[in-house]
Parts: sequence; structure tokens; C-alpha cells
Amino acid sequence: MKKEATALTILTIISSILIPITSTIFNANQLPSEVMRLPHDLVSLGLVSNQIVTGFLTGIVFALIGWALYYKPLRKVYFFILYVFTLFLIAVEVFCIANFGLTISLPMTSIMADTNNTTEIAGFFETYFTFKTAIFVILLCLTGWALWHYGEKIFDHLSKNKKIYISILVVLAIISLVGTHKIGGLTASTPFYKTIYCAKYWLKTSNTLNKMSSDKTNRVEITKNNSDTPFIIFIIGESESRHFMGMYNPKYDSTPLCNKLIESGNMFAFTDTISMKSSTAQVMTPLLSFMDNSTETKDLTKYDPLVDVFTKAGYQAFWISNHEKITKDLSYATFMSSRCDYSTFTSRSAGNTEHVSWLTTKDEVIFKPLDEYIKNQVPQKDKNLFVMQIMGSHIRYHDRYPESFNHFKAADIKEDNFKDSQKALLAEYLNTVYYTDYFINEIISKFKDKDAILFYVSDHGEEMWQAGFQGHGPTNVSKYMVDIPFLIWTSDTYKEKRPDNIQRIKEAINKPFMTDNLAQVMLDLANIETKQYDPTKSVVNPSYIIKDRVINGIKYEDLKK
Ligand SMILES: [Zn+2]
Repeated sequence: MKKEATALTILTIISSILIPITSTIFNANQLPSEVMRLPHDLVSLGLVSNQIVTGFLTGIVFALIGWALYYKPLRKVYFFILYVFTLFLIAVEVFCIANFGLTISLPMTSIMADTNNTTEIAGFFETYFTFKTAIFVILLCLTGWALWHYGEKIFDHLSKNKKIYISILVVLAIISLVGTHKIGGLTASTPFYKTIYCAKYWLKTSNTLNKMSSDKTNRVEITKNNSDTPFIIFIIGESESRHFMGMYNPKYDSTPLCNKLIESGNMFAFTDTISMKSSTAQVMTPLLSFMDNSTETKDLTKYDPLVDVFTKAGYQAFWISNHEKITKDLSYATFMSSRCDYSTFTSRSAGNTEHVSWLTTKDEVIFKPLDEYIKNQVPQKDKNLFVMQIMGSHIRYHDRYPESFNHFKAADIKEDNFKDSQKALLAEYLNTVYYTDYFINEIISKFKDKDAILFYVSDHGEEMWQAGFQGHGPTNVSKYMVDIPFLIWTSDTYKEKRPDNIQRIKEAINKPFMTDNLAQVMLDLANIETKQYDPTKSVVNPSYIIKDRVINGIKYEDLKK
């Protein structure tokens, strides 16, 4: 057992530090932030140490389970299968990072799931299984074989020099604690753990979403329908933080066009709105349904999808997304798009999986399908709902805007304590905000002369080191990952016809609000009521009740600042 346990533990350690090694070899710099690179400062060293310690502990747990298997042949089979499986997962992860810049993750599993016929799979491997990848996988197999073969010798060597290795582990554990403390304790995980996590998520979510997708009945129960707004537009932003938008923070003039709309009294910027979670996948369900924070763990099928409410109320619904089309078994957004009368995905037309994680199409690709819908489909009905999901400020910031929007430079950054590399990245981030300002303004110009209302929120925020971390993730949430813009724009006609609504919006802009109840606000202003409509949850309603905003069990006020 010594041999097997040693080989497996070392392999688990290798698997846990695969991300920085592979992304460096393959120059997969689309991976989020500097923590994914080879260690070059205390923070990244802390992360790698954390990974090594995690790998070691996982290996020990595996070995202990094996040790508990008294029946010897069973023990042998257990170790062998686990060993080969770990080796396989390592190869898969290398493949994913090298080609897509994605680790084993939910978006990755959805790409795999989308590639669902044999010719596509053959083409897929032809395209992605490059010479470099092949060499890497061969080296990996050789390492795997050597570890297994020399496992006993390695064990003898390790136990002879116990003191040295234990000391190394202790040092790593200390660096890990210090380093990860600085970046907010990013969770370490091995491919093994990630696979289990994805499988669990898949089983749970795909069951529910499958059930919902196959049921085409619109079950919404409308109790009142006085809707008369011909155009309702909902733009879902991406990773846009309130803190770097000129309208909220005059330090950077990154939203000049929306500022003008605010000055003219057509746009209203809510100052205290947050997202319910800090990652896209988690946010979309509460954002697009009547499930909210208080009902989160309950049966999703019971909550009305936003689009269903509007279509039941006589609206024709359109979906235009510049995000990847994640298979509908896995994504509530894709499910929602399937409930619309018309839907367009601009980023992955014709099954193009190339560099899918990079998704480099700029958000302006949305204009064309939108113009066509306005020209051809809109005349069919008097009431229309447009939902648009943009790439906004998604990572690989410099891929989000055309060169003509390269407005902010590192020299413009007014954060004195920033290193040059941080200033450069923040400048890129500001340019994404600057471009989104343009995007929103362009969309508005298409509805300016109509009777229209537009809602804009970002799915979640983005931290730019304010609490020591850069980016966002589902765990270790800071205030900056949930502080988002919430904008309502109304056309002149809308304002003239509905002064009451404008008054209610004005009175609400400084109230604390969380976007899990945005659907309630939309119904409220659209004058539609359903069984699940609750005015106490609509921030623009006089009966709105302010409640504690809780993210992953932590009150908003107690989040990292
Ligand atoms: Zn997002």
C-alpha cells in the first residue's frame, strides 16, 4: 500500500498546482488575474502553497480510505482506478486550460455538453489536440508511470528524510495562510474536487431545468393587467462595478453619455443596489425569476420566469445575448431565452467553439439583430419586451472594447498605491465601463422617440483590489463584488404619460435594494400583477419594506470592505 498511497498523494499534489504551470506553459493569460500565474510575490506564492497543501491533504484522505479497505484485492483495484482517474482528470484539465483558458468548470462542462455529435467531437479533437498538448500529455503519462513504478522507493526516501519534508509542508502551510489571507482566502481545489462539484451541480440543476424546459405551458397566473408600455428594455450588464462609473464616482469620467441622460432627467441612477450573488451563473436565476433570496433553496419550478409573465400579459419577447450559449440544462439564462418568441446569440453562431472563453465579439454586435427585430417583428404587436445580455466588463478587459475606446491609460489612474501593472489593468477596466456607457446610450437612441422604459443592472460587481483582491468569484465575497449600478431610463413620452411612476422612481433611488427582486420592480412599473407579485418587494412601491440583504449567509454591511 505504501507504493500506491505515495504515488497517489504526489499525483494529487501535481494535479492541484496544474493551473499555474499549464497556464504559464501555454500562455493562457485569459485566466483571471495574476494569482493564476507562476508565483512571483507573496500572494501568488500563498495560493500555490495553499494548492500544494490541499493536494497533500486530499491525497492523505484518499490513502486513508484505501487503508480502511481490509480486503486486499479490493484495495488494489481502488488505488489503481483512483490513480488512473486522477491522471485522466489532469490530462483533461491541461487540455481545457491550453485550448479554452478554462479549468474544469461549469462553463467548460457546458461546452463539452454542447459538442454532442460524433463528427463534432472528432473535429473538436482535431482542432484542439495540438502537438504541444500531445507532448504535455505524454510527459504526464510518463510521470504517472514513473511515480507508480517507483512509489515504494519514493516512500522510503520520504520516510528517511521525514523531518525535512514535514518542515517544508509546515512552511508551505504558513505561507499559504499568510498569502491567501491577503487575497481573501481563495479556495483551493483539485481537479478531482472540481469534477465532483460539477457533476453534483449538473445532476441537480439539469434535472430541474430539463423539467422546466420540456414543459412549454405558461403557468403564470395574472391577477391584474393594465400594462400599456409598448417598449420595455432590460439590459443585463457584466462585472460592472459602481465604484468605477463616473456617475457614481466622479474620480473617473467613464460614463459621460449616461451622465448627460441623468442631467436631462431621463435617467435615474440608484445609489444603493447590490446583486444577490457574485458570479453570473448564480445571479441569473434570482434576476430572471420570482425566486428571491428568501426562497432560494426552494423548488425552482414553482417560481414564475420573468419572460413568461410578460408573454402572458400580451408582450412579444426578444432575447439577444453576447454571452456564450450555455446548454439549457445548465443555465437559467438559456432556459429563459427559450421562453422568448425570438432569440439571438451573437457570440457563438454556427457552433463556433473556437476560443470560446475569450468571447471577443464586442457588444455592439447586438445592434444589428436588434435593428432587424425592431424593423420586422415589432410591428406585429403593440407591446414588446427586449432582454439583452452583454459582455460588459468581463475579464480579459482589453477584449471588450474596440481600439477607438482605448481612452484611459495607466497614467490616468489616480490610485497612488498601485503598481504599474495594476494601473494598466484598471485603465483597461475603465475602458470597458466607458464602452458600456456608449452601448447603453446607443440602445437608448433606438427607443428615444418611442414610449419606452429601460432597466440596466450589472449581474454582479468586480473588485479592483479595494479589499485586496482583483476579480470576483462565487465565494469570499467582498462589498465590491456586489456593489452594482442600477439604472432606469424613460423616454420623454413615457415621462409625460406616467408622472406617477417617475415620482416613485425618484423617491426610491437612494433606498437599499437587491436585484433578486428586480422582477417585482419591473412588474410594478409595467402595471401587471400576478400571484407572485409582492409590492413590499418593489423598491419603487410606497409599501416597499427594507429587509436585511444577505449574501452567502453574510449581511451586506458585514462583507469585506
Ligand atoms: Zn458575470
